[in-house]
Amino acid sequence: MGMYIIAEPCIGTKDTACVDVCPVDCIHPRKDEKEFETAEMLYIDPDVCIQCGNCEPACPVTAIFTEETISEKWKHFQQVNADWYTNRTGPSPLPWRWRRPATRRGSSASTTASRRASASSRRE
Ligand code: SF4
Ligand code: SF4
Repeated sequence: MGMYIIAEPCIGTKDTACVDVCPVDCIHPRKDEKEFETAEMLYIDPDVCIQCGNCEPACPVTAIFTEETISEKWKHFQQVNADWYTNRTGPSPLPWRWRRPATRRGSSASTTASRRASASSRRE
């Protein structure tokens, strides 16, 4: 059995029925992930999928195929699925600046002072 691939019928449907039956959590974005709102469809991670076949009958619009069953016109979706994971920006939903530990109360003055000191040393 070949790779599982999500194809065009998912676009605009995106009901996540397949996510609920996948035993290895390899269909994304899930509803609780930041990309869900903007993604036009869901994608199967070819590196994680164990080809169990659970997702295929769960899809209400027959959007899931294998390499063998996908029609010629949708074959490029195999690359589309893989590319989404290649281009995905890391597992953390937060930009780096939000992950810094919170500044302790009372330390802001010294932080400001040290910023001023380094700014003036740069000017010299
Ligand atoms: S075939 Fe199985 S492991 Fe692969 S995406 Fe579908 S449900 Fe998940
Ligand atoms: S079940 Fe089908 S339509 Fe629904 S998100 Fe999965 S692939 Fe898309």
